[in-house]
Amino acid sequence: MNCPKCGSDKVNVQTVSESELKTKHHSILYWLFIGWWWRPLLWFFLTIPMLLGSLFGHKKQKIVTKHKSIAVCQNCGNSWDIIK
Ligand SMILES: [Zn+2]
Repeated sequence: MNCPKCGSDKVNVQTVSESELKTKHHSILYWLFIGWWWRPLLWFFLTIPMLLGSLFGHKKQKIVTKHKSIAVCQNCGNSWDIIK
């Protein structure tokens, strides 16, 4: 593998894992028009079922761990994702 930036073959491949919370991102328009009243409403209706759910020990794992490979050029320091 060669660096796309400088063409050097001194490329170090690293595997990194990323943990992220899987939440949907909304646009600013969503928050302006819907989010500010919809979310409290949603929380209100979800809090009671969630409390009941936690009492019965039902937990949802929402953290998603992704493994990806990145290549780092030892010559110029350029790094890029390797798509498998
Ligand atoms: Zn390079």
